[in-house]
Amino acid sequence: MKIYNTLTKSKEEFKEIEPGKVRMYVCGPTVYNLIHIGNARPMIVFDTVRRYMEYKGYDVNYVTNFTDVDDKIIKKAIEEGTTADEISKRYIEECKKDMKGLNVKEATKHPLATEEIDGMIEMISTLIDKGYAYEANGTVYYRTRKFEGYGKLSKKNIDDLEAGHREIKVAGEENKEDPLDFVLWKPKKDGEPYWESPWGQGRPGWHIECSVMSKKYLGDSIDIHAGGEDLIFPHHENEIAQSEAANGVPFARYWMHNGFLNIDNKKMSKSLGNFFTVRDISEKYDLQVLRFFMLSAHYRSPINFSDELMEAAKNGLERIVTAVSNLKHLEGVCESKEMSDEEKSALGTIDELVKKYEAAMEDDFNTADAVSSVFEMVKLANQTASGESSAEYIKSIKATIVRMCDVLGIIAEKEDEILDSDIEKLIEERQQARKDKNFKRADEIRDELLAKGIILEDTREGVKWKKA
Ligand code: AMP
Ligand code: ZN
Repeated sequence: MKIYNTLTKSKEEFKEIEPGKVRMYVCGPTVYNLIHIGNARPMIVFDTVRRYMEYKGYDVNYVTNFTDVDDKIIKKAIEEGTTADEISKRYIEECKKDMKGLNVKEATKHPLATEEIDGMIEMISTLIDKGYAYEANGTVYYRTRKFEGYGKLSKKNIDDLEAGHREIKVAGEENKEDPLDFVLWKPKKDGEPYWESPWGQGRPGWHIECSVMSKKYLGDSIDIHAGGEDLIFPHHENEIAQSEAANGVPFARYWMHNGFLNIDNKKMSKSLGNFFTVRDISEKYDLQVLRFFMLSAHYRSPINFSDELMEAAKNGLERIVTAVSNLKHLEGVCESKEMSDEEKSALGTIDELVKKYEAAMEDDFNTADAVSSVFEMVKLANQTASGESSAEYIKSIKATIVRMCDVLGIIAEKEDEILDSDIEKLIEERQQARKDKNFKRADEIRDELLAKGIILEDTREGVKWKKA
């Protein structure tokens, strides 16, 4: 399995630290509002990475945090006349609802920054003891130049960075030794949440949160650290500086970054105001469509959000769901018998398509190509499956399509839910059966629908149906 590693700017063969185990950390959202669909991109793509690794048999310890203390949360609390705690709790709950709709699996652990303050104080103290950090007037700074590898992830040269910083003087940061130094702990301001610390009352900087949560739940060295590409600098660069200086070992082996979700070729973001929330989209589409849309591009490529692409995703997904629903129907009616040679040969083709799918995923998670393989399986199923097929063949082809979709987090088989289009189709088939005087089949269809809670009424204007 090859993964593109931002650290080496190349695709590398994946090799885990501990055999059979993957330790993975994904930077989560800052919770001050409903998440937008740009924030949903890392959730979906890294959930898919996790699912594929689990499919391969790895035991994945997947940790993703919620940043629940931040200037934006405090600002929102002041605007609403409430507490930062109330705001973050509310939006964590909302975010979890969106993640459920997107079929993003629960993380092994979802740590909250506010519950990990002790660990942050401990790591900051270690950094001070080792000479990598210093306190000035209640603020603790990281001594950036002291960390030799600074810039190794973002490929930035520290002297160029220094030149860029010289002009910028941030109010309240006059006591920095060097403009490049960044904040690990900041003193409390009136009305803000705060914690006691050896440097007075205050709160942590953003970067230290992830270094600490990753260490606590996954250990000093982890396999994969991931997030959107805007996090490469400074967030991930600073995380490396903190973790490696404090722990004395390499932080993460593979750094994975998703490309932006754009709108009119501009990054979707709260600050630009060009965003749709996941909730907005859920009013128009099943969120499975949004997931399918995201997976139709490679995770490192930018993807432009548009109605046309969403419609295309909707149609594509429907094609798969309809095929599986047909197979499900056939599963109930086909006879159990020995598979024909044609069926055996078709299953051979399905096996090859599974290999193609796996090869796409092994090549840095090329979900776009993996989805193409699923479409080929669906096409083959549509061409070969019929009432004459053996139940064994139908079962096998259906199970493979459903499984391959599941690895992508796509639910292809709706549990006991029958689509309106399927009901109409069955009614048509029943009408035809009656015309053909095949009353046995007509009754079967009526009973099958009844079992799914669909009641048929034969009226003068034709057959009507309702849900029981
Ligand atoms: P934030 O709450 O801004 O820290 O973002 C949470 C996650 O969403 C981070 O991994 C960001 O990199 C990612 N993200 C934010 N905006 C976009 C976007 N337009 N496209 C892709 N990823 C994004
Ligand atoms: Zn982070």
